[in-house]
Amino acid sequence: MTQSPRRDTIAAIATAPGRGGVGVVRISGTGLAELGLTLAGKPLKPRHAHYADFRSSDGELIDQGLALFFPGPHSFTGEDVLELQGHGGPVVMQMLLRRCLELGARLAEPGEFTRRAFLNDKLDLAQAESVADLIDAGSEAAARSALRSLAGAFSGEIHTLVEQLINLRMLVEATLDFPEEDIDFLEAADARGKLASLHGQLQKVFGTARQGSLLREGMHVVLIGQPNVGKSSLMNALAGEDVAIVTDIAGTTRDTVRELIQLDGVPMHIIDTAGLRQTDDTVEQIGIARTWAAVEKADLALLLIDSREGITEHDRDILGRLPERLPRVHVFNKVDLTGEAVGHAEEDGHAVLRLSAKAGLGLDELKRTLLDMVGWGGTDAGVFLARERHLDAIRRAASHLETAALVWQQVELFAEELRLAQNALASITGEFSADDLLGEIFSRFCIGK
Ligand code: GDP
Ligand code: ZN
Repeated sequence: MTQSPRRDTIAAIATAPGRGGVGVVRISGTGLAELGLTLAGKPLKPRHAHYADFRSSDGELIDQGLALFFPGPHSFTGEDVLELQGHGGPVVMQMLLRRCLELGARLAEPGEFTRRAFLNDKLDLAQAESVADLIDAGSEAAARSALRSLAGAFSGEIHTLVEQLINLRMLVEATLDFPEEDIDFLEAADARGKLASLHGQLQKVFGTARQGSLLREGMHVVLIGQPNVGKSSLMNALAGEDVAIVTDIAGTTRDTVRELIQLDGVPMHIIDTAGLRQTDDTVEQIGIARTWAAVEKADLALLLIDSREGITEHDRDILGRLPERLPRVHVFNKVDLTGEAVGHAEEDGHAVLRLSAKAGLGLDELKRTLLDMVGWGGTDAGVFLARERHLDAIRRAASHLETAALVWQQVELFAEELRLAQNALASITGEFSADDLLGEIFSRFCIGK
């Protein structure tokens, strides 16, 4: 990446809004030694904590706290960075920030510190994204995985693949100069074997990244079925508290209710829906329309069935309307009333569970089935937090490699597919990223990051 031009000085409150023991104002730019001297009233030794009085332009005391100076390029952003730690009240922080603006800084945009770190080659794009993911992590497993990405585990895997891809490209492009012998040459160099090995490694990285993406995005599990089969009861049993209203009056859940739970550290959005039945009640009809909307976005559907009734004509209607791509589990509820054994089975190519939401029977089986069905490997060890953008890039790279394997005898096409595969992979670490992609990624950060 080319060295970036000198940038203006930016400042923001880096700590969360509200009251806290300590609050931090962060400043990044050039010539911050002087700004530090003015603000703290004394020269700041690099990477030392100085206890200082922060004063306004007319010498009035704003706060007393610590000032830290990190001269570029050995700082988070690669520029001069100044951190002012004061008392974490919103008014004090605002006054301190305003003072920095008076001294020539401007207010930072969301994610601008991290963006500068990226532009100054302190982090690649996947690492920069993991900064935001670490802050947003919804579980310990997600936090550990984000940290792994931040430390470069994911980028490292991608770099290894890109390097091998470059070697293969050099091989293929070298033969373009000798059209008579190209195919023999490629065979002798085992170009196809190398291609297959790359594809295999890519699949492995995809698997790990997909686990990471599960930790980040969570799964959307929708509960559907006729009124009164026990959807809300199951939702409550999974969530461990009464989040949905349970009654024996059919049609009680008229809207979709969502609950975020953690299974094994994997976030699951459980969506309880209105019972699906023919109705003239307008409110209930709206609830039913929302149910279908939730189904459209779900990753997994649990169709609840009353064990005493078995699958009815009506259930078959519902099943027929589910999108083909949507994995589903048939859950026979209320086995406490029929005396059937709880458990898990495979019938006609889909999972079948027997349980009782009300009596709390068979819930562990259900949880295990959910985790299996979303492809959770059972542990976050070695998993790095990935985003849908990364998965998409890996998928594109894999599909170019697959095409490459088909056209390898047409060396020019072969070379072109390899080039496209490399571009797709490189977009993960941001080597060839368009400005609008960067804008989109960094604008989702919080201010001060
Ligand atoms: P929904 O309309 O599908 O959401 O069903 P609810 O969860 O509101 O439950 C309807 C009725 O069935 C309530 O009276 C529940 O207490 C009852 N129920 C739900 N699950 C079970 C179960 O496993 N066993 C028994 N005996 N009753 C259940
Ligand atoms: Zn309900």
